[in-house]
Amino acid sequence: MSARLIIVGPPGAGKGTQAGRIAASFGIPAISTGDIFRKNVAEGTPLGVQAKALMDAGEYVPDSLTNELVKSRLQEPDAEHGFLLDGYPRTVGQVEYLDALLTEHGTAIDAVVQLVADQDVLVGRLLKRAEDQGRSDDTEETIRRRQQVYAEQTAPIVAAYGERGLVVDVDGLGGIDEVGDRIQTALSGRGLSATV
Ligand code: ADP
Repeated sequence: MSARLIIVGPPGAGKGTQAGRIAASFGIPAISTGDIFRKNVAEGTPLGVQAKALMDAGEYVPDSLTNELVKSRLQEPDAEHGFLLDGYPRTVGQVEYLDALLTEHGTAIDAVVQLVADQDVLVGRLLKRAEDQGRSDDTEETIRRRQQVYAEQTAPIVAAYGERGLVVDVDGLGGIDEVGDRIQTALSGRGLSATV
């Protein structure tokens, strides 16, 4: 069935993993703006050249560029009957742009899956990952800072969709299958059932 979804979740909550699973079970593409930008940077495209300095500085790519990129990605045939957006929309301007774009096509977002997890547990997880991978720049302080930035930046986006009753909170702590099952159950409770 068609499903137009957005996923949000704090660093360390396994958002990318769950995004891939949801997309596969609904038969829709998982579209991550971060991945698209990274690919463009790696390939040295004009978009990548523009995005690189901003990404390196930890800043957002301007809405004008990001919105155009999403527009053209959503025009590809595989996204005709649905998609799962990861990392977009990230600003209120992007929410408005996406609304207008979907309205033009007579469609709309069906649900926003928000993975929720205890911050301290996530910090523990990320510290362990940093240790395992020898990433000494990931200290507790930088991890907590990233979580704070995430919370501040996501709040207005979630609030905008929350007003429309579209936000589905899912407990993000647990095994990959367990969390995946929770997401499927929450979505089918809203009439959004996976096809595969
Ligand atoms: P993070 O590493 O913060 O999880 P992503 O992997 O989603 O972020 O994205 C990496 C970078 O790509 C961001 O820091 C930002 O520069 C850029 N980016 C991704 N999505 C967006 C967006 N929706 N709007 C603006 N910039 C974005």
